[in-house]
Amino acid sequence: MHILIIGAGLAGVTAAWYLRAAGHEVTVADRNAAPALETSFANGGQISISHPEPWANPGAPLTVLKWLGRKDAPLLFRWPAEAARIHWGLQFLRECLPGRTRRNTEAIARLAAYSGEQLRALREATDIHYHSLSRGVLHLYFAHENFRHGEAQHRVLRTLGIPSRMLSPAECVAIEPSLAHVQARLVGGMLGEDDESGDAHRFVAELAERCRETGVTFLFDTTVERIAHADGRVTAVECRRAGEASSLRADRYVIAAGSYSPLLTRPFGERLPIYPVKGYSATFTLNDDAPAPTVSLTDESRRIVASRLGRQLRVAGTAELNGYDTTIDPARCTALLRWADDIFPGACNAADPHYWAGLRPTTPSNVPVIGQSARLENLYYNTGHGTLGWTLAAGSARTLADVVDGRTPEIDIPLTRA
Ligand SMILES: Cc1cc2nc3c(=O)[nH]c(=O)nc-3n(C[C@H](O)[C@H](O)[C@H](O)COP(=O)(O)OP(=O)(O)OC[C@H]3O[C@@H](n4cnc5c(N)ncnc54)[C@H](O)[C@@H]3O)c2cc1C
Repeated sequence: MHILIIGAGLAGVTAAWYLRAAGHEVTVADRNAAPALETSFANGGQISISHPEPWANPGAPLTVLKWLGRKDAPLLFRWPAEAARIHWGLQFLRECLPGRTRRNTEAIARLAAYSGEQLRALREATDIHYHSLSRGVLHLYFAHENFRHGEAQHRVLRTLGIPSRMLSPAECVAIEPSLAHVQARLVGGMLGEDDESGDAHRFVAELAERCRETGVTFLFDTTVERIAHADGRVTAVECRRAGEASSLRADRYVIAAGSYSPLLTRPFGERLPIYPVKGYSATFTLNDDAPAPTVSLTDESRRIVASRLGRQLRVAGTAELNGYDTTIDPARCTALLRWADDIFPGACNAADPHYWAGLRPTTPSNVPVIGQSARLENLYYNTGHGTLGWTLAAGSARTLADVVDGRTPEIDIPLTRA
């Protein structure tokens, strides 16, 4: 069977790998000149299995209210808002109900744990290198309120079978000695023991190379403009390449276009519940003479993550709902720089940071959209991975490949069409 995948980010390229491994002829089309140049380019680097709690949870409305009007708030809902944002916001509020949060947390946890297993197997099978570290993710609590929330999360993780350990400040420093100077400010920590970190862009670029070696075709600089359809089936994908219009045909089609996925499906009446949520990262070269972390970190008080990628430190965070705008706000960048300087003074070379902003393709529930279209029979989705696209990539793609082939997925997660 010939399968055309739209999008060469984490979701598209991992899907290409598993579909090719299942014996299909696979083509991947992307509007950029190379893989992973959009949201998968410079994310926080965490494979964060120990963070299945969705943004939408019973505490979220109050937290968001407290942040309203604060320019440096970790989550910013910019006004005026267009209809899509308001609609998404209302769906988000519904997902904050305790029963829904529990169900979403369980689904994300199952997919995250499965993804961790799939990623390890994929790494062994392909021998690809992307500065991966398997030292866990260390969640840091600088306030008692956050620590109590961490303890509650730890209990949830135990019931879900995800290994984690609560830590005293001294134990945090024993695991990550470069935190020594903030030990007195720490209330405690939690180690997600199965968590990992690594450079998602490098992973996708290397995996795309392996895909190519096994026969996957990549069409870059190819913008998909329309999904042509008739009688409930996709008939072709209309594209533009170097100014020239063309049509691509396959037996089955997969949309893995990140935040842009809903723009492709809206014309044929399928509303994917995905909204672009902007986030920032700063990548610093590390100085030789100051202690820098080797364990991936999450500052739960300030909602900032940091991952060691070879000789660099990637610091990422913030969430802004402001449409498809990807301009870089200097205030947001300064906040990341200040954080790095506060936690690891002198470690980062502040002279040459690389600042970046990307759009997380976020569903109100944080559960991604994987499975078959409800409208067009030969169309499938692997999209909407939001804050956890790197964490969930391998398991989502493997699940998608199972669905495309008509196999029952190995884990129980909600599919777009069961
Ligand atoms: C600041 C930040 C930090 C993050 N940190 C983490 C983290 O630590 N851990 C984690 O698990 N996740 C993290 N994420 C989330 C993760 O990066 C995303 O979920 C993931 O990259 C989404 O991958 P994707 O393939 O769906 O989208 P993308 O990487 O955006 O790929 C979509 C592709 O589709 C292509 N495309 C779109 N429209 C068209 C079209 N019409 N025609 C042709 N091509 C098209 C684009 O060119 C693009 O290459 C973070 C995100 C951000 C922004």
